[in-house]
Amino acid sequence: MKTDNVATSYFQTQKKLSPKQARWQDFLAEFDYTLEYKPGSDNHVADALSRKAELASITSQPQEDIMDLLREGLQHDPVAKSLIALAHEGKTKRFWVEDGLLYTKGRRLYVPKWGNIRRNLIKECHDTKWAGHPGQRRTKALLESAYYWPQIRDEVEAYVRTCLVCQQDKVEQRQPRGLLEPLPVAERPWDSITMDFIIGLPNPTDCTAEETARLFLKHVVKYWGLPKFIISDRDPRFTGKFWTELFKLMGSELHFSTSFHPQTDGQTERVNVFLELYLRHFVSANQRDWAKLLDITQFSYNLQRSEATNKSPFELATGQQPLTPHTLTIGYTGRSPAAFKFVKGWHEQADIARSYLDKAAKKMKKWADKKRRHTEYKVGDMVLVKLFPQQFKSLRPVHKGLVRRYEGPFPILGKVGNVSYKVELPPRLKIHPVFHVSYLKPYHEDKDDPSRGLSKRAPTAVVTSYDKEVEHIIADRIIRRRGVPPTTEYLVKWKGLLESEASWEPANALWQFQEQIEQFRAKDATRTSAA
Ligand SMILES: [Zn+2]
Repeated sequence: MKTDNVATSYFQTQKKLSPKQARWQDFLAEFDYTLEYKPGSDNHVADALSRKAELASITSQPQEDIMDLLREGLQHDPVAKSLIALAHEGKTKRFWVEDGLLYTKGRRLYVPKWGNIRRNLIKECHDTKWAGHPGQRRTKALLESAYYWPQIRDEVEAYVRTCLVCQQDKVEQRQPRGLLEPLPVAERPWDSITMDFIIGLPNPTDCTAEETARLFLKHVVKYWGLPKFIISDRDPRFTGKFWTELFKLMGSELHFSTSFHPQTDGQTERVNVFLELYLRHFVSANQRDWAKLLDITQFSYNLQRSEATNKSPFELATGQQPLTPHTLTIGYTGRSPAAFKFVKGWHEQADIARSYLDKAAKKMKKWADKKRRHTEYKVGDMVLVKLFPQQFKSLRPVHKGLVRRYEGPFPILGKVGNVSYKVELPPRLKIHPVFHVSYLKPYHEDKDDPSRGLSKRAPTAVVTSYDKEVEHIIADRIIRRRGVPPTTEYLVKWKGLLESEASWEPANALWQFQEQIEQFRAKDATRTSAA
């Protein structure tokens, strides 16, 4: 075998190998061959088929039968050619030729390195509806059930890693980014509260900020007073409105503004995850009556001692576990000490619990900082942004699990403070463009084919997509309704339908047909200027 790379000519005798080289050497050990250096300047018949111009002619024939492509490709892949030669000479048992095709163990077809054949096969086993964007391992397994080529793993890995759909949908396996800012330990019960909305439960009722404030007054403030702060993953506008409503209900005349800090406290997240799980199990067992049974659920939750403090919520709030049906039957326990002793004991208990929480928070920070990577971004870096369905009105009725988790890629515009970044968002996403690093993740681009980064899916917040195609746009109109900003609608002539079947469609729902809209606008402009 001749090579124009000096280093490669020493490959067989090289002592230190990279993992990739080692895999190759392992693979090549099957064959009887020698490497010989031939300078590029001496090699006038360099493999012209690896040139770009040649590749273009392949991609323009997507209809060609895959078998014919493989047969043709084998003639242009030097590795395949030498394998075929070895097979003919009977020097390998691992490869054989049948009907002009090269096979290997498991009767898998050897896919030559030629044109886009390898990439198109990966695409087929990953992007298509039937494949459904499986992970690296499953994509590779699908491919390997019928095909083979050296380095198949590396190529699949690179392909899946740079897939836009996968990057938008899949949750990061790694620890969240950003250093942990522990919550200050509460001075007393109900000092700080976490507000979370569990959506997607049966028979939901929409809970507005006003309604939430009313419920909060009824169930919390009445017994415990006002909290100092609220941690919530909801839209800051919601929490702002909530505070205003709550103060209104209390008859306060104070005008104040609220501040919002992205919260990454792991303990809060963990408690929320636990509670949500708890409620979901509970609800699925009591589909119809779950709302009525919530009180007893809460009671039983409040009885459970936490690992961090070894105290139950009841004990922390009131100093003792309440009587329960089973303790009632055992007899009368507790309350026997004098009130003085009880109060003194309660304070001691509260102090101990506080120190436990303090210790746990510090331990968690130490543990979490070790695992969390504090990612730094530069201006122009492309990132994906984590979005919450609650931020979009049109998505609220959609189940949480069905909403894509990341939106993007978008460029970083700059750093804001220590741990947040400003991101260039498209105007259709009407949200504040500053995000804590834990809401961002780096976008992996396919450098060979950047077009894979262009989304073909409906943008978040726009749920309409048409199965018909727009032929052209006939007219436009502006819809004005009281209380909402004016919107544009287009009269659409659909492909394959009569002009009489043209229909008015809102502009933002026609996101797939920007070309036709621009054409209409251009024509409209010339008409207007002519008149
Ligand atoms: Zn994918």
